[in-house]
Amino acid sequence: MHSGQCEPSMKALRGMGYQFFHPQSSAALKPCLWCKRSLSGGDQCYKNQFYGITSHRCVQLTPTLRCNHTCLFCWRSFEHEYTGEKDLMPEEIVSRIPFLQKKALGGYKVSPRVAKEKWEEALRPDQYAISLAGEPTLYPHLPELIDLLNQTGGTTFLVSNGTMPGVLRQCHPYQKYISLTAPDRETYLRIARPVEDYWDQILESISDLGHETDAGRRTAIRVTLVRGINDQDPERYARIIQESGAKFVEVKAYMHVGYSQKRLTIRHMPLHDEIDRFTRKMLPHLSYRILGENTLSRVICLEQDL
Ligand code: SF4
Repeated sequence: MHSGQCEPSMKALRGMGYQFFHPQSSAALKPCLWCKRSLSGGDQCYKNQFYGITSHRCVQLTPTLRCNHTCLFCWRSFEHEYTGEKDLMPEEIVSRIPFLQKKALGGYKVSPRVAKEKWEEALRPDQYAISLAGEPTLYPHLPELIDLLNQTGGTTFLVSNGTMPGVLRQCHPYQKYISLTAPDRETYLRIARPVEDYWDQILESISDLGHETDAGRRTAIRVTLVRGINDQDPERYARIIQESGAKFVEVKAYMHVGYSQKRLTIRHMPLHDEIDRFTRKMLPHLSYRILGENTLSRVICLEQDL
């Protein structure tokens, strides 16, 4: 561990609301905006609309901030990178979740906008989104971590960049997402800026989703569109999606937030109408139907139509 580099990084990330599970590990949780809005009686995230998730009972976490991509649209900072870290055991992560989630939401307890029942519900999470930042499949105990979270009785969502198909096959979350950042290898290399070319592995992970869907598991592909960078060739995206057999597809606009603002401009953020037009260009090539849309989050969700 390069402690000299780790400490300033952690300090900066703590200032952004990250709660670390251990001083020498980048495993962290951070309640998202929708968790806080829902707690205060406001709107919930689109996952409530599409999948019935209760936002104020959702824990957003990652077992590692390491990543083998440096996506242009990532909200994470590449300047606050860890060069070494301790991997915690799954039990250490799971046992500290209640304490850290309570700490992260602490300021809301006294807010007059937060109903007592909601606050108490928030302290009893029933959904774990392994999606904060970093690539979770680089954490060596991910399958065990997911199994342990599943045993709490809550639902688990895993969001992966798909670069580690072997690890993904061993993971059994309630819903498994693979990100599809491009319709072809060249665009992938330009937008994800990977440490090496993982395009073939990503396609392998995506095509594995069909077997899981057939086995009754919930699978999803997430497409994040960045205007002028990866929003071309809807037919080719559609071909990859159609062959995958994923149950759901989320087509989302890039959001100009966090550290992505240093790499992209607000003009790269598509309007909801553009997401709609792009999705409708894919639809004739897909056996999927529109499950719903959320204009605030600029996302359209498709479901397999068998
Ligand atoms: S794969 Fe995810 S965490 Fe890694 S750089 Fe891309 S968006 Fe960020």
